[in-house]
Amino acid sequence: MYTICVQAHYDSAHFLRNYHGKCERLHGHRYVVEAAVQVAELDESGIAFDFVDLKRELRALADRLDHELINELPPFTDWEPSAENQARYFFEELEARLPAPIAAGLAYTRVWETPTQWALYSREPVQLPLPAD
Ligand SMILES: [Zn+2]
Repeated sequence: MYTICVQAHYDSAHFLRNYHGKCERLHGHRYVVEAAVQVAELDESGIAFDFVDLKRELRALADRLDHELINELPPFTDWEPSAENQARYFFEELEARLPAPIAAGLAYTRVWETPTQWALYSREPVQLPLPAD
């Protein structure tokens, strides 16, 4: 099994509506989002999926949130804009945008809110620690 992984970043503001603590106040993060794809077979070029194509899709999604108040953007008008829900958002949007065999291999999306805390979304529980850790 091969795993490939790309990252993008976005600088955005958010606040948690149903939380009591400092994250209920408007504040910003330099978010990093990572997407990992796993495939069993490489193509004739010896690659799993083109990094360029995967980065383009991830960046397009990150750009939607960049320099925005995430609370004001769907689906975060309904979902709490936590790192967990942002990871789910990237996962579901990527799943819809990637070619079918690659979408099926989407292993996880992970959102770092700070360099020392992240949230990850996947269909199934992932083995920890992750290979990149
Ligand atoms: Zn925050």
